[in-house]
Amino acid sequence: MQAKAPRGTFDVMPGEIFKWHHIEKTIKETAEIFGYSEIRTPIFEHTELFERGVGDTTDIVSKEMYTFKDRSNRSLTLRPENTASCVRAFIEHSVAGGILPAKWYYLGPMFRYDRPQAGRYRQFHQFGVEAFGSNNPQLDAEIISLLLQILTKLGLQDYELHLNSVGCPQCREVYRKQLVGYIGPFKDQLCADCLARYEKNPLRVLDCKVPSCQEAIAGFPYIYDYLCADCLEHYSKLRNTLDDNQIDYVHDNQLVRGLDYYTNTAFEVHIPQIGAQSAIGGGGRYNGLVKACGGPNIPGIGFAMGLERLLLALESLDDQQYKDHKLDVFLAVMDGKYEAQSVKILTQLRQAGIKADKDYNGRSGKAQMKYADKLGARGVILLGEDEMRRNIYTLRNMDSKEQIEVPADHLIDAIKKFLI
Ligand code: AMP
Repeated sequence: MQAKAPRGTFDVMPGEIFKWHHIEKTIKETAEIFGYSEIRTPIFEHTELFERGVGDTTDIVSKEMYTFKDRSNRSLTLRPENTASCVRAFIEHSVAGGILPAKWYYLGPMFRYDRPQAGRYRQFHQFGVEAFGSNNPQLDAEIISLLLQILTKLGLQDYELHLNSVGCPQCREVYRKQLVGYIGPFKDQLCADCLARYEKNPLRVLDCKVPSCQEAIAGFPYIYDYLCADCLEHYSKLRNTLDDNQIDYVHDNQLVRGLDYYTNTAFEVHIPQIGAQSAIGGGGRYNGLVKACGGPNIPGIGFAMGLERLLLALESLDDQQYKDHKLDVFLAVMDGKYEAQSVKILTQLRQAGIKADKDYNGRSGKAQMKYADKLGARGVILLGEDEMRRNIYTLRNMDSKEQIEVPADHLIDAIKKFLI
């Protein structure tokens, strides 16, 4: 057996987990400030859910899913994204009958079989939100502002918000037909992917990154010019709300989502300095999705953001600013005959909520101090002959190197005052 994680996956080792905890905490706090509650759905679902909910003409469904048969011969798929699962849960639990909009967020692993590279993995983590039950463009502005606020709180400022409207099924259909007509004579210039999908999903040709596809479509009209009055109004209300709240954006005619249940708002946030995979998150409205999945006609909007890409963007930031001391105090036992006593003290400290640890490998006094430093302890309690005889402890602050003596029965108070 090869002792290596599968390609496109990685371990988060204990030494790096503080970064994840910091990001996850910031995300959860911000989502909750905005009135979103966490939902947790299964890691795998019936394959059919994604075929319907993500769309079988998408790359995700046609090429990237981890699909397998279980022992009862059911086709199951590791979730490649979480909107479809949220929609399923929304329908399954009849949430439409309750208070709307339902505002949810999720955080967890997703799985896509794609070629791994920096910022692209086969198991990766997304934070996302979904809001069901309102078509108000202020809600579109709210979720955009939630995403941006998380970036700001994490200290990331160099992001770009791209925005577009993909209209509704009616106005988009007029545009789609025209686009197929325009693209027809240039078919030979399209990449294999675009050629395969252009009749079913021609809007996707617009955001294809292959240069010959870009050349083929140069000069074609954009969907913006085809928006109906309602869709134009929705878009301009969203833009006004963003303007009123000093949120900068770029109107991006080539930002599209091809499928019928996507409506109106589409957006993406890029952090250019993280490289080729610069999209940190994206989302939009999907007013037709709940119905397409067999539920009531309820509008929705959401986005998903990749945590690995956030981490890439944060790499340039100073680790120290979000690194907590791992330990409050290390208990250094200077004389082996106090080992049993040290376990009792450790228990008391931990019961009092103090993060405490000791040596289990017979290190010398000096080696224990080094070890305490490596563990990131704020302070050390010295337990030796002299201390035991005088019924005191010596407490050392590892940052200032200052030492004080405290009576044994004031140890916990002294730690709280002196160290934490
Ligand atoms: P999507 O669901 O494709 O719209 O992706 C939303 C966000 O998830 C992207 O902007 C990325 O930040 C992240 N993401 C998508 N696919 C991957 C992947 N294979 N590896 C890492 N992050 C990803």
